[in-house]
Amino acid sequence: TARLIDGTAVARKVREDVGRGVEELVAGGGVAPGLATVLIGDDPASEVYVRNKRRLSVQAGMQDLHRHLPGDVDQATAAALVDELAADPAVSGILLQLPTPEHLDSDALIARIPPDKDVDGLTTSNAGLLAQGRPGLRPCTPAGVMTLLEEYDVPLSGAEAVVVGRSVLVGKPMAQLLLAQNATVTICHSRTRDLAEVCRRADVLVVAAGIPGIVGADAVKPGATVIDVGIHRGENGLRGDVEFDEVAEVAGAITPVPGGVGPMTIAMLLANTLTAARAQQGMPENEAG
Ligand code: NAD
Repeated sequence: TARLIDGTAVARKVREDVGRGVEELVAGGGVAPGLATVLIGDDPASEVYVRNKRRLSVQAGMQDLHRHLPGDVDQATAAALVDELAADPAVSGILLQLPTPEHLDSDALIARIPPDKDVDGLTTSNAGLLAQGRPGLRPCTPAGVMTLLEEYDVPLSGAEAVVVGRSVLVGKPMAQLLLAQNATVTICHSRTRDLAEVCRRADVLVVAAGIPGIVGADAVKPGATVIDVGIHRGENGLRGDVEFDEVAEVAGAITPVPGGVGPMTIAMLLANTLTAARAQQGMPENEAG
């Protein structure tokens, strides 16, 4: 059966590296990175995500510059908060927790985040840099998948990689990052004619469709590496987009849900925040970034 890719362990290692990087930054005369998480409203799932981001940023030695706005806030007030954080030198990174309430235009809010504080990698500027293969802040979930593939020595150059999903948050940047490592990348989406047939070509299969169990054993080439980005709350706890038990019989390596990609997302947010702080303070990049 497949080797288990332990995202919890890799995420812990990344966070420890970030913690050491923060210590070095401060020891070298710099200022500890400040992470401004912005939560609008009180969606329970978003509250949990933001609480974890704040807790782990503090654990890594960062300043918690969290801001909370009521769910009925108007666009201008939310925009003014982003502008205030953008101008504040203590703020290294701004993370607008998505989704924002329906009446707000989250794209317009993200557009106000300066690219060098865009630790979620969601501005058009950072998306463009990624598309051009130039340095920039990368979206956290796909960056976390790349770190897992690297930690487990999964060969990418020349490999067939299939990404299921084309969202701005996950699928598209995922495909770009795999392409940058010289994989032959295919992107599947809701109009793909025969999903299983395309997925079976993959040496590396990344599934981010947001549909529980959409990828089963019939869609997996024996020995393939399968990365499950999906997160769904079911009766028996969390599950992913992949039928874990049957796919684990076929795949060479697989991420569990929970304990796979999920913990990596926050770890990469912290890594991005350190990278942003270093760049803002004119400190050279090192390994931990
Ligand atoms: P999304 O809904 O924005 O995008 C889903 C994508 O899947 C779309 O591009 C769509 O074209 C594609 N799709 C839908 N039905 C399909 C089908 N039948 N066949 C092939 N493709 C299909 O979702 P998202 O934001 O990209 O997130 C995807 C999943 O990943 C969700 O379950 C989400 O909860 C999870 N997620 C996890 C993390 C994490 O930290 N692990 C982070 C972000 C998202």
